[in-house]
Amino acid sequence: MNIEAVVKNYDLSKLNIVTIASHSSLQILRGAKRLGLGTIAVAKPGSGWFYRRFSFIDKVIEVDLGNMEHLAGGLVKENSILIPHGSYVEYVGWRRALNMPIPTFGNRYLIEWEANQKKKMKLLEYAGIPIPKSFNDPTQVDRPVIVKLSGAKGGRGYFIAKNANELASKLSSISMEDDYIIQEYVIGVPAYYHYFDSKVYNRVELFGMDLRYESNVDGRSFNLAEPTFVVVGNIPVVLRESLLPTVQKYGEDFSKAVAELVPPGMIGPYSLESIIRDDLTIVVFEFSGRIVAGTNVYMGVGSPYSVLYFDEPMDMGERIAHEIVNAAKRGKLINILT
Ligand code: AMP
Repeated sequence: MNIEAVVKNYDLSKLNIVTIASHSSLQILRGAKRLGLGTIAVAKPGSGWFYRRFSFIDKVIEVDLGNMEHLAGGLVKENSILIPHGSYVEYVGWRRALNMPIPTFGNRYLIEWEANQKKKMKLLEYAGIPIPKSFNDPTQVDRPVIVKLSGAKGGRGYFIAKNANELASKLSSISMEDDYIIQEYVIGVPAYYHYFDSKVYNRVELFGMDLRYESNVDGRSFNLAEPTFVVVGNIPVVLRESLLPTVQKYGEDFSKAVAELVPPGMIGPYSLESIIRDDLTIVVFEFSGRIVAGTNVYMGVGSPYSVLYFDEPMDMGERIAHEIVNAAKRGKLINILT
């Protein structure tokens, strides 16, 4: 699809924001409506009723997401911009997301990097950001490790091992065809950073941060269950101010690496996910190249960091809409779409 040609025909006074009804869609669509944009939610069959409860959503379309491509022509006629999020990637898969014939906010090519654990770590390493040590050979493991199966979602399908012996016995129970990485288990507290790379203002904004609420590591398991990392919610957090320059630097370093390796570079929201050790060093084990659900903790109130840029609280949904509206005004809409 020639996005540039499609967007040239768009009526900029009638833009619609479309997203899959899940993940951070309430925040995205509420923000879009507040900034004067039209809003469309694409819901899985049976889940539309919940989204029809909200007046800021103009239209709810229920469709089997296996057929989402069939909606594309109609959505393009309605001057639509698709906002990708974690559930979109999960439901349609990265291959279909790459080819979805709808102008998409952000850099859709990053979705492929994000889907592959090895490519993901390569990009972080290229950025020069500290990452956990990886082990190719399980017998070389000399510390606690976490094993991540490719395609594991939201922490499901991970397991930890205290040492090489425990690892060997746990690995023997998984299929040899499974693709996985063995990573140092970093001891410390988690912190997940929300950034926004603005093409309108040419800057990386540190827009917020959160913690994840994960079962069973955060549950009342009293050592009765194996640790699991299934995300069930998110919790707001702020950091010691002395850590912020490092967090900002890693965000900017990541954006530079994406500019070099994944054209057209970082656009809009992204996240780095880290563990902070007790010596206050930060180790990044993951990124998301699109809005993360942890931004939902600031829906309607804005994160404490957002006031540093706009002197008023803004949530990530509003921030995305602000970028789209202002890029359109400046004739830069094509610069924020792929
Ligand atoms: P992820 O799905 O990659 O975001 O990871 C799920 C959870 O596993 C994270 O929220 C962390 O709590 C934990 N985790 C992942 N990788 C590491 C690591 N290398 N060291 C410590 N904890 C980790």
